[in-house]
Amino acid sequence: MQSSMIAISDLSKRFGRLEVLKSIQVDFSAGKSYAMIGPNGSGKTTLIKCILGMVIADKGEIRVDGKSIANDWTYRNRIGYMPQIGRYPDQMKIGQIFDMIRDLRQDQAHLDEDLIKEFKLDRMKDKRMGTLSGGTRQKVSASLAFLFDPPILILDEPTAGLDPIAVETLKEKILSVKSKEKTFLISSHIMSDLDELSSHLVYLEEGKMLFNDTIDSLKEETGESKLGRAVASIMRRNLKEMEA
Ligand code: ADP
Ligand code: MG
Repeated sequence: MQSSMIAISDLSKRFGRLEVLKSIQVDFSAGKSYAMIGPNGSGKTTLIKCILGMVIADKGEIRVDGKSIANDWTYRNRIGYMPQIGRYPDQMKIGQIFDMIRDLRQDQAHLDEDLIKEFKLDRMKDKRMGTLSGGTRQKVSASLAFLFDPPILILDEPTAGLDPIAVETLKEKILSVKSKEKTFLISSHIMSDLDELSSHLVYLEEGKMLFNDTIDSLKEETGESKLGRAVASIMRRNLKEMEA
C-alpha cells in the first residue's frame, strides 16, 4: 500500500471573535509520525477536525495525497480517527458498534482486530455503550481507528482516560503499525506522553504553529534528552527572542 500525506497551507479558523487557528502551514509527510503538542485550548482538536472535514476552515487549504479535501469525501476512507471524546448511541452494545462499522465498510478486505482482542472488548460484546467507563469507551475508539488498517492514523489525545496498561498496549500497537509506512498524527497536551512514538514534533500555542521539526534535531539543538525539557527550552528561547 502506498503511504499518504497531508499538506496544510495558510489555514485559519475563528469561532466568533476567537481566532483558534492562525495561518497554519504544515506538511505531514507520508510514512512519518508526528506528535502534535500544545496546551489545552491551543487548537489541536480544531486542526484535526479540519483535516477530517468536521470543521470547515475560514481560509486556507488542506490536501490529502495531493488532492484538496473540499468537495471530495472519499479521502476519509484512508484515515483512521480516534476522537478525543468518542460519542456513541447509549443503547448500542459494543458488539453492535463494531458490526455496524464493519457493515459500512464492506469494501475493506483486511481487518485489524488486534486491539479489540488486546483490550478484551470481544468479551464485552453485550455491554451497552451508555454504561461504559470513559476508559473503555476510549478503547472502543482506539480499536475502531485501527480496524480498517488505514494508511493515515489521527489520534486525538489517545492516552487521556486510559489506564497505564491500556496506554502501553496502545503504544505498542502504534509502534508495530508505524513500521508499515503509515502516517501518524497524535496529539497530546502532555509533552512526555509521545516521546518515542514520534519522529517529528509540531508545537501549537494559541492557534499558532511555533515549532515543526524532527524530535532528534530538537533534542540535539537543546542538549536535552527528554522531549518535555527540550520543548520547554525552545519555548523559553522563543519568549526571550520576543522580549528582546
Ligand atoms: P485543544 O484541542 O488544543 O485543547 P481545541 O481545538 O479544542 O483546543 O479548542 C481551541 C479553542 O477553540 C478553545 O478556546 C475552544 O474553547 C474553542 N472552540 C473549539 N471548538 C469550538 C466551537 N465549536 N465553538 C466555539 N469555540 C470552540
Ligand atoms: Mg483537544
